[in-house]
Amino acid sequence: MLHMQDISKMYQTEMVQTQALREFNLTVNEGEFIAVTGPSGSGKTTFLNIAGLLEPYSAGQYMLDGVDVGKLNDNQRSDLRNQKIGFIFQGFNLIPDLNLFENIEVPLRYRGIKAKERKRRVEQCLEQVGLAGRAKHLPQQLSGGQQQRVAIARALAGEPRFLLADEPTGNLDSLMARQVMTLLEELNRAGTTIVMVTHDAELARRTPRNIQIVDGQVADFTLYQGAQNPR
Ligand code: ADP
Ligand code: ADP
Repeated sequence: MLHMQDISKMYQTEMVQTQALREFNLTVNEGEFIAVTGPSGSGKTTFLNIAGLLEPYSAGQYMLDGVDVGKLNDNQRSDLRNQKIGFIFQGFNLIPDLNLFENIEVPLRYRGIKAKERKRRVEQCLEQVGLAGRAKHLPQQLSGGQQQRVAIARALAGEPRFLLADEPTGNLDSLMARQVMTLLEELNRAGTTIVMVTHDAELARRTPRNIQIVDGQVADFTLYQGAQNPR
């Protein structure tokens, strides 16, 4: 599904140049659930942003479902992203003035999905994350854990085949974190490929494959029982 070969990423700011990824190599197969760990500043978020077509890379090749991402123009890239990729951002990124229904609907509007189908999907996703009946609430009327579930529902609404999650449990207590993890596991069983950045070693151990990023490279990977598809 995803194949990165020798991907490098440089950030240039006024004074300093930072190399966030250095000849980064990774293959993610369809149906995998991968946890990405690594020290702060090691390049995890950069990797997710590039994988999700949110950021350009400086060198190397990135193939997504057989498509060479580097050869796409802006429109083609946006289309590919909207069709295939869902994001769960750190800190939720919910729009404060929109109620839950409207927040979840946003990516569906981008994709040109008709109102009736949007309603069906939003209701289904709210149900899936255990927030049915809260459609009219504003984000600030919810707990952190509930807001995180809304962010997940929003990612699910687009029915992405590939879900990228940046610390999806980062702001949650351990019980809520485990519930969110269970939800992600259900999605993965239903066929969604998931790459999740996490600092939580206990949650990382629940996924079949862990990779560690250190200094912009895949430093190590570990497979747990039942796992297939080593890199
Ligand atoms: P992580 O998610 O593992 O904490 P990041 O991918 O956010 O790491 O960052 C990797 C490196 O790239 C860090 O040194 C960070 O300071 C740098 N970096 C990330 N984003 C930018 C940016 N927009 N401009 C300049 N440097 C950046
Ligand atoms: P939009 O979401 O408005 O369609 P994009 O997020 O696709 O726009 O692109 C924003 C900017 O970042 C564009 O100028 C685009 O050239 C650049 N960009 C984003 N992703 C990539 C990528 N994978 N490769 C090259 N450039 C990219």
